[in-house]
Amino acid sequence: MNFPRRDIQRNDTSRASLYARVVDCYILNDLLPPQIASIASIRRVGRMKHARILGAICIAFCSILGWSASAPNVTLSVDATAAPRKIFHATLKIPAIAGDLTLYYPKWIPGEHAPDGPVVDLAGLFFKANGQTLKWRRDLLDGFTIHVDVPAGVSEVDAELDFLSPATFESGFSSGSSATAKLAIISWNQVLLYPKGWKADEITYTASLKIPEGWKFGTPLPIASQNGNEIHFAPAPLTTLVDSPVITGEFLKVVPLAEEPRSEMDIAADSGAALDAPPEVWEHYKSLVDQALKLFGAYHYRHYHFLYTLSDHVAHFGLEHHESDDSRVDERALVDDTARKLSAGLLPHEYVHSWNGKFRRPAGLATPDYQQPMQTDLLWVYEGLTNYLGFVLTARSGLLTAEQNRDDLAVTAAQLDHLPGRQWRNLQDTADAAPQLYFAPEAWYSWRRGTDFYPEGTLTWLWVDVIIRQQTKGKKSIDDFCHLFHGGPSTGPALKTYTFDDVVNALNQVVPYDWRSFWTERLTNHGPGAPLGGIEGSGWKVTYDETPSEMLSSAAGMFHFVPAGFALGLNLRDDGGITDTTEGQIAAKAGIGPGMKVIAVNGRRFSPEVLRDAIVAAKGTTATVDLLVENADYYKTYKLDYHGGEMYPHLVREESKPDLLGDILKAK
Ligand SMILES: [Zn+2]
Repeated sequence: MNFPRRDIQRNDTSRASLYARVVDCYILNDLLPPQIASIASIRRVGRMKHARILGAICIAFCSILGWSASAPNVTLSVDATAAPRKIFHATLKIPAIAGDLTLYYPKWIPGEHAPDGPVVDLAGLFFKANGQTLKWRRDLLDGFTIHVDVPAGVSEVDAELDFLSPATFESGFSSGSSATAKLAIISWNQVLLYPKGWKADEITYTASLKIPEGWKFGTPLPIASQNGNEIHFAPAPLTTLVDSPVITGEFLKVVPLAEEPRSEMDIAADSGAALDAPPEVWEHYKSLVDQALKLFGAYHYRHYHFLYTLSDHVAHFGLEHHESDDSRVDERALVDDTARKLSAGLLPHEYVHSWNGKFRRPAGLATPDYQQPMQTDLLWVYEGLTNYLGFVLTARSGLLTAEQNRDDLAVTAAQLDHLPGRQWRNLQDTADAAPQLYFAPEAWYSWRRGTDFYPEGTLTWLWVDVIIRQQTKGKKSIDDFCHLFHGGPSTGPALKTYTFDDVVNALNQVVPYDWRSFWTERLTNHGPGAPLGGIEGSGWKVTYDETPSEMLSSAAGMFHFVPAGFALGLNLRDDGGITDTTEGQIAAKAGIGPGMKVIAVNGRRFSPEVLRDAIVAAKGTTATVDLLVENADYYKTYKLDYHGGEMYPHLVREESKPDLLGDILKAK
């Protein structure tokens, strides 16, 4: 998963990279419907001789046991024709026997690393069998569990449900806004229930989908047949189904990227014009596939689909799947130069996850179904390494220039270098607490910290890459680690779990080094400052000057924030609203906090330019920067005794060292 740049770029000192998410996939044999040889049927043989009765009992129990041992085949029909109304209707046929049928609504969503399945949006729930409506009740200890009373003589339950997609704009991940007048993204986990007692790999779903008339679609889920706007999919394990979203829309463009490994972009937009990107854009994405194959040396999917949604009315984020992503950005993110630049890192990040996250996955994240809690302690590999490799591939594919990538890296490093929350929360705890931190408010970020294993992963894995290059005198690099850890023979979707020890052992196979101590120190230290060994070892250093980089000023303009964080420790929107103050820095020490609003600067109405002028004017003088601040109906003036001028981060070359970063970012 990756953050929407809009959200992460909450201020100039944002998280994640500057601006900016199959498992055992085998098809089960066709399953027999449950053979319910009820006791009643045994009674009917009352006149039989003893032996025959015993035989019948034996057959009955064997039948029941046989059913228990055969995982069910569920039929799922989703009607998305009312997507513009933001309601999705589904019906399911679920094998059942008399008694309690326990059904789950998926709770822990893969790639979201949190129990954020949108159960509150599950509505219109009815269960029927043999023409009767069945009683059901929610489990009192788990709101995602439903118990249905199944009467005798029933072998299949018909379930109906609606999924209520957000009606007004909601940010967030896959349960955020997902449908507009012209497009929709269907996440199967939102429109189904599954029976207790089986692994997600074991239950077969035969799904069909009806989309609005005239809409096209894209999905990695294999298709059995299509009849007009109704698509019938091949039976697939629940794991594969949930891992294979569908993008659909009136304006949908398919761009083939490569035959080997087979890959394409399926792009849905709120307008046809938004799909008309300059030709070099497609060349960069073709290059991304090529460069990824060179990085990993093999691939683990049948046919990869970049599912790319261009809309200002859907939640913006990226979510990984084994054979696709689900990435959503601004409507004009392909046609507008600035918007394209600011979203350039998203698809490389999600694509890397097909190898790092889906094929190779921390054991604690490879849960058998969607109800078991996930353990997120290795997200510094799952997301951290992905963030680094996404950064590398963004440059190697030409989606950003090396200089633009360095601008990104400078801001990432500077932000993490000014993070007081590091004093109490180490990197390991940002991963351990991820299921909560994904939903933390932006206020108090600098003291709370957030999911910093993303941006700090970039810094620390760069450091690993630099150490490998130094220790092997340039003969090896992170590419060798990726070949070893993520490569092997090319396969379809597969899952290979790992532990901390496996990561350390693989690094040691690339080059012997005390990797255990390296990572233990990186995960448990409390600073001071960010881990900058990778940047410095790669021949660069972080400096500050009075001119924001191209990437920083583009982001500030597009996402409406004022990049004053490094000067004043004050992060604010361009309307003066304060999103955060850095504990220990000048604004916080003066008494300003998040949630307040700057009304005026030195007696003049606030604007980004007025604030900037005041910072420049106070440089090297004794004059203060006076901020009139509103705090819940009260006004107060704070005098900031700051004279250091503007401060914007950059990377500059250290000529005494070889330019390893240059080599890292060069196309292979
Ligand atoms: Zn991710």
